[in-house]
Amino acid sequence: MTMGDYLVKALAYDGQVRAYAARTTETVAEAQRRHQTWPTASAALGRALTAGVMMGAMLKGEETLTIKIDGGGPIGVILVDSNAKGEVRGYVTNPHVHFELNEHGKLDVARAVGKNGMLTVVKDLGLRDFFTGQVPLISGELGDDFTYYFASSEQIPSSVGVGVLVNPDHTIRAAGGFIIQLMPGTEESTIIRIEERLKQIPPVSRMIESGLGPEQMLEQLLGDGGVRVLETMPVSFVCRCSRERIADALISLGPEEIEDIIEKEGQAEASCHFCNETYHFDKAELEQLKQLAKKE
Ligand SMILES: [Zn+2]
Repeated sequence: MTMGDYLVKALAYDGQVRAYAARTTETVAEAQRRHQTWPTASAALGRALTAGVMMGAMLKGEETLTIKIDGGGPIGVILVDSNAKGEVRGYVTNPHVHFELNEHGKLDVARAVGKNGMLTVVKDLGLRDFFTGQVPLISGELGDDFTYYFASSEQIPSSVGVGVLVNPDHTIRAAGGFIIQLMPGTEESTIIRIEERLKQIPPVSRMIESGLGPEQMLEQLLGDGGVRVLETMPVSFVCRCSRERIADALISLGPEEIEDIIEKEGQAEASCHFCNETYHFDKAELEQLKQLAKKE
C-alpha cells in the first residue's frame, strides 16, 4: 500500500450510487506547513481542501473549480481551488485561529468559520463558460454545508463527510473524506441502507487514522452495494503560481506604480496567497519590469 494521498471514483448498487473517497493527509499537511495554520484553522482549511479535491475530480479535462466559504467567523474567508487532475490549493484569511474542542470533543470548525454567510462554488468550464452555485452556510462544520450545496444548488442528493485530525504539535495526523451521491431513481431500500451505514461508521478522520484507504472507506459505507472502483487518482497540494505570474502582476500595476516602489522600497517582495511562496525582486529587476510596463 502506498502512503501517498489519492482519491477513488466508484459506483455502487448497480450504478444507482456514485461515490468519491480520498485520503488527503499529506495534502492538508502541506497546506498546514505553508500557511502555519493553528489546529482549528487547519481542520477548516483541510476539510475544504478535501471536499474541493473530490469536487475537482467531478470535472473534465482543463476545467477548474473555486470554492469560497465566507461565514463571518474569525478565520475569515476560506478559498480553495482545484482541478480534474487531483491538484488542489487553498488558504484562509487568518491562519492563526484555534479554539478549545467542542462538546463532541472535536475541533470547533463551526466557531472558526462562522455560519453567517455563504458557500460559493464557481466552475470554469472553459471558453468563458462558468457555472456558479451559492448556498447559505447551514452549520459551519463544512461537511453538512457541502451536503446542502449539492442538494440545493446541483439538485443531487448527496452525503459529504470530511475530517482532519491534528497532532498536539500542530502537524496533521490524518485527513480525508467521501462524497456519496444518489442518481435519479435510486431505490428507497438503497437510500435506507446507506443512511443506516452513515449513522454507524466512525468519523472519517478516525477511519483514515486507523489506516483505511479510500477503497476501504467506501466498503464501510457501501459495502453491501458492490462497490466498483472506476478510477484512482493521486492527490496533492499544487499551486500554479510562478515568478513569471507574479512579475506579470507587478507589470500590470503600471510604470508609475513600479517607479514608486523602486523609490520607496528599492525592492519588492510578493507572496502568493494560495501557497505563501514569497518572490523577491531587486531594484534592477524592477527597472526591467517598469520598462515592460511602459510598453503595455
Ligand atoms: Zn502559489
